[in-house]
Amino acid sequence: MQRICVFCGSNPGRDPAYRAAAEQLGRTLAARGIRLIYGAGNIGLMGAVADACLAAGGEVIGVIPEALMGKEVEGRHVEHRTLTRLEVVDSMHTRKARMAELSDGFIALPGGFGTFEEFCEILTWGQLGFHVKPMGLLNVQGFYDPLLAMFDRAVSDGFLRPQNRAMALASTDIDDLLARMADYQPEPVSKWLKAETQL
Ligand code: AMP
Repeated sequence: MQRICVFCGSNPGRDPAYRAAAEQLGRTLAARGIRLIYGAGNIGLMGAVADACLAAGGEVIGVIPEALMGKEVEGRHVEHRTLTRLEVVDSMHTRKARMAELSDGFIALPGGFGTFEEFCEILTWGQLGFHVKPMGLLNVQGFYDPLLAMFDRAVSDGFLRPQNRAMALASTDIDDLLARMADYQPEPVSKWLKAETQL
């Protein structure tokens, strides 16, 4: 993996452990020569992961929709202005497609609706066979335990195939998550597409 997309909160979260994890992820990507792709935010965990990656000599590409450019949140510009490259796109949809195109894998740090939606959409695209890239949750402070339990519930209640549930990798540790992502073997999709519609 040479380019990883990080989805994360535009807020920092209450526990300082969240920001610390974002910064550690940014530094780790820089140290491994992995380019960071993200939503170009200057605020919350988004700003933290990008700043830490840049400060450690890493490359960061941000993709932001025009509608968010120049906006301010609590006196700070929403978009990060000192990235390696900033791409301005026409919509949130184009942004997600572009971030996916630029990346070899995806990591979600803690966040809110935007983060959940981005991670679940990329899982859905994987489930449909539109990509075969690894996807992982960095489960800082057990933040994602309820979401992982929801995924398990969806399997036991017949809404999600176990093979597709297995696409959502998770770890509390960055190096372990990156190792799992590197070892990721996607489920052959033709099997799913040919299968009967029942789970
Ligand atoms: P949330 O988890 O709701 O804070 O949303 C964070 C995710 O949504 C990020 O990965 C971004 O792609 C996107 N996003 C939400 N708010 C912003 C913002 N103010 N600036 C840039 N991207 C944002």
